[in-house]
Amino acid sequence: MIYPIVKLGDPVLETPAQPVTVFDDELRKLIADMFESMYAAHGVGLAAPQIGISKRLVVIDVTFNEDPHAKLVLVNPEITHLEGKQTGQEGCLSIPEFREQVTRAKRATIRAQDAEGRWYEKPGEDLLARAFQHETDHLNGRLYISHISALKRDLMKRKIRKLVRAGEW
Ligand SMILES: [Zn+2]
Repeated sequence: MIYPIVKLGDPVLETPAQPVTVFDDELRKLIADMFESMYAAHGVGLAAPQIGISKRLVVIDVTFNEDPHAKLVLVNPEITHLEGKQTGQEGCLSIPEFREQVTRAKRATIRAQDAEGRWYEKPGEDLLARAFQHETDHLNGRLYISHISALKRDLMKRKIRKLVRAGEW
C-alpha cells in the first residue's frame, strides 16, 4: 500500500516520534508499505512521521531499489558516531521541489533494531551518512531546513505559503 507523503506544515513532522516496542506482522507490513511508498516517491529514505505515523521507524535505500542488500530498516535508531564534513544538495519528500546546500558529517554510524527487534550497528559515508542524519532528524521532529540559514529558510517558507494559498501544496 502506498501512503501519501505528509508535507511541511503538518505538525506530525515537527513532533518527536514514539519508540517502537512491538515487533509483529503489523510492523513488518508497515515497513513493506514504507519501502513501496518511498520508491513510488523516488526517495532514498523515508521516516514514519512522513506518512503521518509518529513512530521511530525509518527505511533507507540509497541505490533506488537496485541492490536488495542496500535496503535498510532502522527501528529506534540512534547515531553513535559522527566524523568529518560534507556539503551537498539535500531535499526531502515532505518539502517537494526544494533543495538546499546542507553541511553534514561525512561519516555516521547508527545503532538500530531490525524488523525482528535485533540490534545492529552500521557505519555509512557520503550519501548513506547523510541519509542516517536526515532521517534520524525526522524522528526528533527536525527537518533539514533547520540546518540552513534563517534567511534561506524564511524565503522557502514564503514560497510555500504562496503555494498553499494557490492550493498547490
Ligand atoms: Zn526528509
